[in-house]
Order: sequence, then structure tokens, then C-alpha cells
Amino acid sequence: MRELKRQQSTSSFVPDFMATSLVDVDFKVLKDRGVRYVAIDADSTLVRYRSTKIAPKVKTYLDKQKQFIDDWCIASNRVTNNLDIISKALNAPVVPTGILARKPRQRYFRRITNHFQADPGQIAMIGDKLLADVWGGNRAGMVTVWVEHLGDDGLHDRMIRVRDWEQRIIKRRLSQIDEQ
Ligand SMILES: [Mg+2]
Repeated sequence: MRELKRQQSTSSFVPDFMATSLVDVDFKVLKDRGVRYVAIDADSTLVRYRSTKIAPKVKTYLDKQKQFIDDWCIASNRVTNNLDIISKALNAPVVPTGILARKPRQRYFRRITNHFQADPGQIAMIGDKLLADVWGGNRAGMVTVWVEHLGDDGLHDRMIRVRDWEQRIIKRRLSQIDEQ
């Protein structure tokens, strides 16, 4: 996990941390930053797109990391109720999405803060999407961790080439940070 030195003027598209996958996220480091709660995205972060199966390696790793935080939840835009399977497997409640309460909308991030009854700065949002997870989480005042996406994206994201767009955005923003 790599820490990016964000400043007040840094774009909301720049995460606080970048990680190659969930098993690269160090909860102890997050804790030292004041994080007590972790919100984890499902699709392409915790599981492959639309899957319900958490890889045993990921589950074992996360269960060990949980000692560093007070609680966690699943923060996903997925609308089907099969999130319950993931929720049970990880013992992490789902913060439900709604038509107007979806990442990156602030209404959804308020649901997360309300769920934990915590300040946004005490919550880390971990996800693979630069817009939904990072931009949304930063604007909510959360600590953000951008992980490389796990497996292939859904058809829609592939059609609009969301990953090309993300790479262009982050490349430009990171060069601005390096110049600071
Ligand atoms: Mg995702």
C-alpha cells in the first residue's frame, strides 16, 4: 500500500492510499491515521464482478486485519440481494443503496457515516472505482484507498472504457502531486 501525500488543494480524484489489492491494504496504517471503521466495496474489490465468492486468501487476510478497527461494512452499488451471501461470509453488514443514494452521491456516504455513528475522517472507503469510491469518499471527508480492480469489469464499464479514463485522470493528478 502506497500513501499519497494529499493536500488541501489536491484533487478529490486522488486517493489517500493506493493498493494492488485488498490483501495489500494495511489496516494498522489506516488505524494510525485515525481510522476506526472500514467500508469495503464489493464488485471488483472484495469479489470479482457480480460474484458472491470471497477468495479464501482474502477472507483470511481481512479477518486478521479486523483487529485494528472497531467495525466494517460492505458499501456497494449492487442492487441484488445476493450481497447477503458476501455479508454473511465476512460478517459485515451491508449499507443499502437506493435509487438516489448510490456512490458517488453524498447521500450514500452519509448512510455509511450514520451506520457507524462516526465522523467521516474515522472511516476508510476502500474500492476499485476512482469516481464512485475515491472521488465520492474524498468529498465525504473519508480516508480513501484505491485498489486495483479484481478481474474483469461489467459490459457497461468495458464499453465506456472506464479504466482508460481512470488512468488518464490519475496520471495527470499524480504528476501534479510529484511537482509539489
Ligand atoms: Mg467496485
